[in-house]
Amino acid sequence: MLNKNISIIGSGFSSLSAACYLAKAGYNVNVYEKNAQLGGRARQYAKDGFLFDMGPTWYWMPDVFDNFFADFNKKTSDYYALEKLNPGYRVYFGENDFVDIDAVLNKIYESFEAIETGSAKKLKKFIAKAESNYNIAVRKLVYKPGLSPLELVTKDTVFELKQFVLSIRDIVFKEFKNPKLRQLLEFPVLFLGAKPSDTPAFYSFMNFADFGLGTWYPKGGMIAVVNGIITLAKELGVTFHTNAKVSKINVEHEKVKSITVNDKEILSDAIVSGADYNHSEMLLDLSFRQYSPKYWSKRTMAPSSLLFYVGFNKKLKNVLHHTLFFDSSFDQHAVEIYDTPKWPSNPLFYASFPSITDADVAPEGKETATFLIPLAPDLEDTNELRQKYFDIIINRLEKLTNQSLKSDILFNESYCVNDFKEDYNSFKGNAYGMANTLFQTAFLRPNLKSKKVKNLFFTGQLTVPGPGVPPAIISGKLVSELLIKQK
Ligand SMILES: Cc1cc2nc3c(=O)[nH]c(=O)nc-3n(C[C@H](O)[C@H](O)[C@H](O)COP(=O)(O)OP(=O)(O)OC[C@H]3O[C@@H](n4cnc5c(N)ncnc54)[C@H](O)[C@@H]3O)c2cc1C
Repeated sequence: MLNKNISIIGSGFSSLSAACYLAKAGYNVNVYEKNAQLGGRARQYAKDGFLFDMGPTWYWMPDVFDNFFADFNKKTSDYYALEKLNPGYRVYFGENDFVDIDAVLNKIYESFEAIETGSAKKLKKFIAKAESNYNIAVRKLVYKPGLSPLELVTKDTVFELKQFVLSIRDIVFKEFKNPKLRQLLEFPVLFLGAKPSDTPAFYSFMNFADFGLGTWYPKGGMIAVVNGIITLAKELGVTFHTNAKVSKINVEHEKVKSITVNDKEILSDAIVSGADYNHSEMLLDLSFRQYSPKYWSKRTMAPSSLLFYVGFNKKLKNVLHHTLFFDSSFDQHAVEIYDTPKWPSNPLFYASFPSITDADVAPEGKETATFLIPLAPDLEDTNELRQKYFDIIINRLEKLTNQSLKSDILFNESYCVNDFKEDYNSFKGNAYGMANTLFQTAFLRPNLKSKKVKNLFFTGQLTVPGPGVPPAIISGKLVSELLIKQK
């Protein structure tokens, strides 16, 4: 076997997935993670008996996780327990004004009909198309490595040009008039990192993931998924190194030679970097980088975020495990993220209360809460701004859910743009990579395989297929297949 020793940079989901596939193929795999904890953006923060998933909290597309474990003749349930949430989540539109999204599709149709007469029938049609897109995209296209535009031309897509020319907003606004229904249908697209008006209609498969497949919870939180994949990787023989910051990718005769980790050189037959793509290229001498600063400056990055990890001294009322606060203008906030980047004038925000489902993630009688405000990448980040926005959302939370909370806050830890840069070498402090717009889809994304350096590969949310935990897991599989094929 030509490429015997493989070094993987980073330990996010994409790197963990790649590590498993490469170890299974017989390579000697070592993973180098700069932080003390494995898991990348999906690390856990623990304080005083409260446990927080620092990044992802929504477990969507369970079939992708099942397929991953099945590739190793294992089952998801061999590594963690899953529960389907019912309702999946709640969306607030104002005081005492909210919609709960049921786990059963027929119930969602009823909720829509109660808000807009005739909308149930339209939603059924919309979801049927979304399901067909899901079957094409997530079950077939997404498993292609993005090497050529021809990958997208299949008998399933060739008659679907309209789905790429029209945006999600075009199709949602055409069929649904009620602003609440429109927001509910545009929400899943936010996971792709771009505005609904810039996201091709084909991505409505996210609506099938939402309403059709549902929202799941891994017992213990998303960290249970990280730990499950690490356990599998160790069973396959992968070795993990933490506090292991890679400072250089060394090249000889246009082929990778080694990485430098904490001033030590580690000889490597092949290298896979799951760190942010832009940072990975900075580890190379200039002449070996594929993309210029101008290229990067023109990319639409997915948003950054301001997060708060809060311990409450009591159980909260009137909220669900996942609760979205869409009581302000979605469009205004989107403009302030993508068009004229600035701190939002009246932000939408999201809250997760996992201790509602899982008693083990908070001390008895208390609540674990994570709040998230999406932000434009690279904004100025100060303690004063963080505090200002904390006050804004706590005031809104109290008012919308009709309870007083401030005196029950035991602690409040914030996380924002500067932390993303510092902790993950994140480009512009993005939270979840590079957006999936029409011109940043598939073969139009940064490549999985270096065009300049032999045996150098990239994986993760800035390459193919895109942001999110399921795509990161798929990205690890795609990069491994390319590497294995070229041996
Ligand atoms: C706040 C937030 C909420 C999210 N919510 C969801 C959600 O609910 N559902 C969902 O599916 N997705 C969600 N996502 C997206 C999802 O978490 C990511 O897409 C996915 O985890 C990215 O995995 P990755 O492997 O691409 O990168 P990362 O997880 O960023 O891994 C890259 C790793 O490389 C390491 N690294 C960087 N530089 C070096 C170096 N020089 N040497 C060694 N190591 C290095 C970093 O420390 C990091 O551990 C969310 C993300 C965030 C941040």
